[in-house]
Amino acid sequence: MRKQMILCVVCVSMSLFQLLPYAKASEKVQVAVSILPQTYFVRQIGGDLVDVTCMIPEGGTPHIYEPRSQQMRFLSSADMYVRIKVDFENAWWEKMTVANPEMLIVDSTQGVEFIKENEDHKGHNHKEEENASDHKGRDPHIWLSPRMVKIQAEHIYQGLITVDPKHQETYKANKEAFLQSLDVLDNEIRTRLANVKARKFMIFHPAWSYFARDYGLEQIPIEIEGKEPSAKEMAGLMTIARKEHITVIFVQPQASRRSADTIARQIGAEVRILNPLAAHWMKNMRYMANTLAETLSR
Ligand code: ZN
Repeated sequence: MRKQMILCVVCVSMSLFQLLPYAKASEKVQVAVSILPQTYFVRQIGGDLVDVTCMIPEGGTPHIYEPRSQQMRFLSSADMYVRIKVDFENAWWEKMTVANPEMLIVDSTQGVEFIKENEDHKGHNHKEEENASDHKGRDPHIWLSPRMVKIQAEHIYQGLITVDPKHQETYKANKEAFLQSLDVLDNEIRTRLANVKARKFMIFHPAWSYFARDYGLEQIPIEIEGKEPSAKEMAGLMTIARKEHITVIFVQPQASRRSADTIARQIGAEVRILNPLAAHWMKNMRYMANTLAETLSR
C-alpha cells in the first residue's frame, strides 16, 4: 500500500512537471513590449535584472504588424507586458494574452495627455483602432516626448516592483537616474530649439506631434488618413511648402517616400530620414533635435 502511494506521488509529480512546458530558462524578469523605444525604457529601469522582448522588430510598423508564433510563445511565459496601445496591440490583444493569464499587464499610457487626431489630417489607417472605442482618435506616438516618457517610466517601475519586489531598491535607483536623464534631455532640446527661425516642418507620417507640442513646433503632414495624398492634395501641399519656405521634408524608413520626393523635387527641398522607432531612443531624440534645429535655422 505504502509503496503504491509513493509510486503514485512520483507519477503525479512527473506529470505535473510535464505540464510545465514553459519552464523559465532564466531567472531574469521576462518583459514584453510592443515597440523598440520601449525596450530602451525598460532596460534603463530593469538593467541586468530583466530580459526584454519587443513584439514589433526593426523595420516593422505598429500600424499593421502581425506577431510571429515564436513571439506568441514568449508571451505565454512572460512576467509582464508594458502596453503603449499602438494599433498593433489593440488588434492582437486578446490573442496575445489568452495563453498567459498570470502575466502582469502594465498600461503605460495612464495619465498621458493625449493629442486628439485631427480628422482631416489623421496620420494613420485606424481601421483596427476604430473598434477599440477607448482609444479612438488618439495620436499614439507618445514615446517621442521626454515628458510623456517620464509618465511611462513610472508605470514600468511600478510593474517591475510588483513582479520582482525583492529588487525594489535597484529599480528605484535606476528609475531616478533615468528620470533625471530625461529632464536633462528635455532641457537640452528646449535650448537647442529655442531660437530657430521657423517653427513648422513638413513630414510624411506625422509621428512627432508630442515632440512638436513640447517644443512649440508644428508638423505639416503629407500623409492624409494613412494614405498618399491625391494629385489635388499634392498641389495644395506644394503651395504650403513654398509659403512656409520648407527646405527639408522628413520621411521615415517604415513608410513610403514617393510623395515626399515629388514635393521636394518641385520646390527644391531635400528629403531626410528620421526613424520614430529607433532602438537607441536617447540618441535618436538628440539627433531629431539637432536635425530640426539646423533645418529650421536656415
Ligand atoms: Zn505612427
